[in-house]
Amino acid sequence: MYFDYYMSYYLMIPAIILSIWASAKVNSNYSRYSKIPNSSGMTGGECAKRLLDANGINDVSIEVTGGKLTDHYDPSKKVVRLSEEVYHGSSVASVSIASHELGHVLQHEKGYAPLVIRNSIVPIVNFSTSASWFFIVLGLVFSFSHLVNIGIILFSACVVFQLITLPVEFNASRRALDMLTECNIVSSGEITGSKKVLSAAAMTYVAALLTSILQLLRLVLISRDN
Ligand SMILES: [Zn+2]
Repeated sequence: MYFDYYMSYYLMIPAIILSIWASAKVNSNYSRYSKIPNSSGMTGGECAKRLLDANGINDVSIEVTGGKLTDHYDPSKKVVRLSEEVYHGSSVASVSIASHELGHVLQHEKGYAPLVIRNSIVPIVNFSTSASWFFIVLGLVFSFSHLVNIGIILFSACVVFQLITLPVEFNASRRALDMLTECNIVSSGEITGSKKVLSAAAMTYVAALLTSILQLLRLVLISRDN
């Protein structure tokens, strides 16, 4: 049976639905809990500083960055970058997101294995993901299956990366929820909001993994039929 290249896009439908659902969940939870002030009155920026102090970390700085939900930790420069709303906001969402980034800082400080592995494979993954499409397109155009197979092997590095991202993200959120409670930044009633904000964000990584897995499956099916 000829596995049509364009028909194969239907295979991606579950991933597209999950991605849209997860991103809608992120936006709705964020907009809901960014309007609810946290009981400690702390901004995301203050919360991040407080958690750095509480963990005795003094070589990590906190900066404000542009955009919405652009918060991240840069381990190479040891900088936590918080979006303006998170840095200046004193909502349940602000401190939850700031704490999640602090979760990544702690992973880095403590040499959390999945994070170490993920950071070490970033250059390989970036290279092999871009190179994979070159081999696949070339292989399909010239009907040379070995090139397509090389492309598929290179693309699987992307799946490995998305897979190792899951424990990193879930663990950062778990650390965040522990810290928020231990340092009395949110009340026991507000922690439900924190959980919703963080688990919605984690779902986007699950959606990204599913997208890569189905993309890989699609490539394997296409190559078998060629
Ligand atoms: Zn994260």
